[in-house]
Order: sequence, then C-alpha cells, then structure tokens
Amino acid sequence: MNVLIVHAHNEPQSFSSALCQLAEETLQGQGHAVQVSDLYAMNWNPVASAADFAERANPDYLVYALEQREGAKAKTLAADIQGELDKLLWADLVIFNFPIYWFSAPAILKGWFDRVLVSGICYGGKRFYDQGGLTGKQALLSVTLGGREHMFGEGAIHGPLEDMLRPILRGTLAYTGMAVLPPFVAWHVPYIGNDARQDFLRQYQERLQHLQSDQPLAFPRLEQFDERLYPLPR
Ligand SMILES: Cc1cc2nc3c(=O)[nH]c(=O)nc-3n(C[C@H](O)[C@H](O)[C@H](O)COP(=O)(O)OP(=O)(O)OC[C@H]3O[C@@H](n4cnc5c(N)ncnc54)[C@H](O)[C@@H]3O)c2cc1C
Repeated sequence: MNVLIVHAHNEPQSFSSALCQLAEETLQGQGHAVQVSDLYAMNWNPVASAADFAERANPDYLVYALEQREGAKAKTLAADIQGELDKLLWADLVIFNFPIYWFSAPAILKGWFDRVLVSGICYGGKRFYDQGGLTGKQALLSVTLGGREHMFGEGAIHGPLEDMLRPILRGTLAYTGMAVLPPFVAWHVPYIGNDARQDFLRQYQERLQHLQSDQPLAFPRLEQFDERLYPLPR
C-alpha cells in the first residue's frame, strides 16, 4: 500500500521524530511505498489565506472553502497545497505523527488540515463521514504526550483520550471519510527512562506490523440520518 506520514516536530532528534523514522523504515521493510511530509523541515506554511489562490472566483470577498473548490477544479491552488493534496490522494494510509500541544496538534499540523483537506475533494455538500471524499483511506495518529496514562480515561483527570482528540479523530479525519484507527500513544515521554522509551518504539513497530488486524473507531453513517440530518428512529 501507499503510506503518507505527516510529521510535525520541530526537533529532528526528538522522540516523536524517532517514531516517524521507525514507521518509515518498518513500513518500507514490509514492501509499502512511503512518503514523509516533515512539516518543519519543509517550512510548511500553516496559514490559510487569500494567497492560497492564484485566481479568485470572487476577488471581492474571500470564502476560503469556496475558493478551495474552484481552485481544486481549475488546478490553481498554491503549489505547496497541491503537492500535499497529491500525496494525500496517492496514500492508502495516512499517519499523523506529532507531540500533543494543548490537548491537540501543533499549529503547523492544524494548518496542514486547514489548507490540504480541500473542499470539493475531501468533503463538501453531503459528502462527509462515510460519504466523505477520502473514503477508502485509513488514518492513524502516532502521538507523544507529557501526561501519564492514568490521567486519561473515564473518570480520569483529563477524561478519555478520544474525547481530547475528537476535533481531529472525528471532526477532521472521520468527517472526510477516512477509517480512523485507534491512536498509538507514547505517554509521559520526556520523564521516563530510555528503556521505557525503547519499549514504546518496540510497541509501535509491533503495531505497524499488524495494522491489518486493527479495527477502526466507530463514527456516524449518513444512512442513520434523514435528509435534514435528524437521526432516524432505530
Ligand atoms: C506548547 C506545548 C503544549 C503541550 N501540551 C500538552 C498537553 O496538552 N498534554 C500533554 O500531555 N503534554 C503536552 N505537552 C508536552 C508534549 O506533548 C511532550 O513534551 C512531547 O509529546 C514529548 O515528546 P517529544 O518527542 O517532544 O520528546 P523529546 O523531548 O524530544 O524526547 C524525550 C527524550 O527522548 C529522547 N529520545 C529521542 N530519540 C530517542 C530514541 N530513539 N530512543 C529513546 N529516547 C529517545 C530525547 O533525547 C529526550 O531525552 C505540550 C508541550 C508543548 C511545548
């Protein structure tokens, strides 16, 4: 399969970067084609703005998603967006590899979502969840945290990890139609010893070698809702 790894860490020697490199090597070792978008190394521009459109459908008032739709059709999106979109459409599996920042992704990755998940291709109209433009692709988060494992879950101080990551897991990846695999999580990374970090690397390698047995997380299907998106009686 084709794998895109979108990596967002500002330090090439970081543990998160080690996870990225391990994924690249492991998946290539299994015969998969792998591309890596190392966002900091690429000096990726995360800011969605008028500069993203060489030609404007409406030059007087910027409606970003509308211009995305027109720009995607006319192939006039900014070259950096088009390059990432081509990689995304090529991929069967997309891995997002990053440290948790403020219960979420670093801004540079948020800006990748904003600019690359183009309206009209990845979603639009009633094309979302199981009808999204990216159906048939899988997504996996590989995240590092400062927090400890017992701080997450029902009744834990921060609540369930899937709730924390809902805007990404559900609002972004599942929304655009991707089958979202349970995240891989390395807890408390800066504060544990080298052996414990090596264990995480081993666990991640094991997980990557058996991805085909992973069950995606459950999200709504449009057939469960009426025309106006009210839930149908079960
Ligand atoms: C703005 C901001 C917001 C944050 N918000 C949150 C939050 O909401 N929740 C939360 O839990 N945390 C939060 N954090 C903490 C952050 O998520 C963690 O610091 C980060 O995930 C740790 O991963 P890292 O890759 O950066 O570790 P690093 O600090 O890069 O690495 C930790 C150690 O691992 C070593 N290492 C590197 N490679 C290897 C290897 N191959 N094998 C073994 N060891 C290796 C490094 O040398 C280093 O000593 C936040 C941090 C910032 C800066």
